[in-house]
Amino acid sequence: MTETRELILLIEDEPQMRRFLRVTFQSQGYRLIEASSGEEGLVAGTTRNPDVVLLDLGLPDMDGIEVTKRFREWSEVPIIVISAREQEEDKVKALDAGADDYVTKPFGAGELLARIRVALRHKILLSAGQQDPLFVADDLKVDLASRQVFIKDEEIHLTPIEYRLLAVLIRHAGKVVTHTQLLKEVWGPVYTDQQQYLHVYMAQLRKKLESEPARPRLLINEPGVGYRLKLNI
Ligand code: CA
Repeated sequence: MTETRELILLIEDEPQMRRFLRVTFQSQGYRLIEASSGEEGLVAGTTRNPDVVLLDLGLPDMDGIEVTKRFREWSEVPIIVISAREQEEDKVKALDAGADDYVTKPFGAGELLARIRVALRHKILLSAGQQDPLFVADDLKVDLASRQVFIKDEEIHLTPIEYRLLAVLIRHAGKVVTHTQLLKEVWGPVYTDQQQYLHVYMAQLRKKLESEPARPRLLINEPGVGYRLKLNI
């Protein structure tokens, strides 16, 4: 196994959860800093420059939404939220405040590690200051420069709104994008409560891109949160 050296900042007050994650990350060669409160996490974030932050929403001193907002005042570090079921609403708020993704407790190590790989991949693309002009996932191929979309090398015609919707999901490929974020980026800030637009256009997009639109493999619904363009990494 090749050793990875990325530094993970874990902000979590539950000792059992920290122990589980410590073992998981050590087995993968990640370096880890642990913080048990929001304040401690913010200090570690400024002094240690982590590559990714794992953030529990229920912390003793402040909630994760506040921690996310404080990070976003000065940092673009990927933030993956760890939420319990009773924090579903807060999870969406944290994503809209700038968190990148989430896992819901209880989660498996495999699921979390996949989310971390996606977050780190985005960080690399971001710091390189560019996105590959050719996006490929499964049978889908998108030339972002010419705005051409192909399924199995056959060109698919998308309307301008369908293309914008797809382009936003590609920009965040592998990560969840909330309903509010999608509405804001595709239609504009005054449309953020028009969720029906999103459902209509997502259905159209699936019809054009998915071999079985009722069982999407690419454009994944995250119930109550948003959508995710699935990446296999
Ligand atoms: Ca907690």
